[in-house]
This record gives sequence, C-alpha cells and structure tokens, in this order.
Amino acid sequence: MESNSEKSGSNEEGLGRVIIFSGPSGVGKTTVLAKVFAQCNRPLVESVSATTRPMRSGETEGKSYYYLSDAQFQKHRDAGEFLETVEVFGRGHWYGTLKSTVEDGLGQGKWVILEIDVEGARKVLVHYPDAITIFVHPGSAQELERRLRGRATESEEALQRRLEVAKVELDASASYQHVVINHSVEQTATEICQILESAE
Ligand code: 5GP
Repeated sequence: MESNSEKSGSNEEGLGRVIIFSGPSGVGKTTVLAKVFAQCNRPLVESVSATTRPMRSGETEGKSYYYLSDAQFQKHRDAGEFLETVEVFGRGHWYGTLKSTVEDGLGQGKWVILEIDVEGARKVLVHYPDAITIFVHPGSAQELERRLRGRATESEEALQRRLEVAKVELDASASYQHVVINHSVEQTATEICQILESAE
C-alpha cells in the first residue's frame, strides 16, 4: 500500500525524494547525471523508463531503458503500471515511468531521479507535488541545434522534430524550481549537486 508521505514525494522517514530532471534532447542530461551520481552525497537512484523507441548504439537494456514493443507497452499501460506515459516526439514512440520503480526507490529511502520530458513532469507533479524539479538548459536554441547535430544520431527529419519539441520545452523551463545552464558538464553537475545537498 502507498503511504500518504510517499505520495507527496518523500518516504515515511523523510529520506526519499522524487527528483524531476528535464531538459531538451541533446542538452547533455545523461552526461551531467553520470557526474551528479559520482559526486553527490545523496542516495540517488535513476528511474529506468520504458520506451518503444529503438535502442541506440551505446545503450543498454534495463539500464538506459526497458525497450518494449508497442503491444508490451500497451499491456503495462492497461494494467495501470505506469505513473505517466508520453508520446514524446509525436511520432509513435512512447516513453513511460513505471510506478513500481519510483515506489520501490522511495520505500528504500532513495532519491529517485526521473529523467523525463516537461509533459511527463506535469503528470508526475500531480502524484508527487513535493518533487524537486530541475531543468537543464542549453543557454539558447542555437546552441542546442549545434549539440544535436554534433551527436548525429538522428535523421534530418527526426532532428527537426526534436528541435521543434525543444522550443516548447525551453518555454516550459520557467515552471521548474531550478534552471541550470549547461555551459560545462562539471559546473552543471556541481550546481545540481549543491541543489540536492541543500534540499531537505
Ligand atoms: P531519448 O529518446 O533522447 O532517450 O529521450 C527523449 C526524451 O524523452 C527526453 O526528453 C527524455 O527526458 C524523455 N523521456 C525519457 N523517458 C521518459 C519517461 O519515462 N517519461 C517521459 N514523459 N519522458 C521521458
């Protein structure tokens, strides 16, 4: 059974927290998070999402995502196992946070980091209104385009779609408690770590 304190974003001992970590695709969230995990003195754990998008090279099943077919994803959704689901780029690829991942982490007093888009963040905040919200910002839309092109993992069409979505995401950053501009991975990770270590 879920306790009231779990629902608000912290566990019964007041130790566990939900952390919503957003930022446009290509801003460097994954690299920054790896550094945050290495240096931050909090019991951090990353919530592994489920997705129907294909695996990219360098990614690992069960670590980067749980890669599901459309039918498998739908089955989990029908069973009410997701905290939130979003078709992030509007092209048939679904992403979702599993309730069990978040609840298990909180139950163990962990600070559970959800790397999710702005729409998913709004949905999670309904369930966990005390979540800490952090947005990693590229500084400008032009800078983001430069980074996405450098990554070269998408077709031109997919890249344009990601840039369109990014513009909407950058506008939504104002609703986050903390907006950190990613000028350098080290500096950004340090700032995020300070935010987490000064939170109760
Ligand atoms: P990517 O395909 O580059 O791994 O992720 C694309 C976008 O989906 C990123 O903005 C990422 O934060 C978001 N995302 C990843 N997992 C989830 C999830 O479970 N829920 C939601 N709402 N967004 C997610």
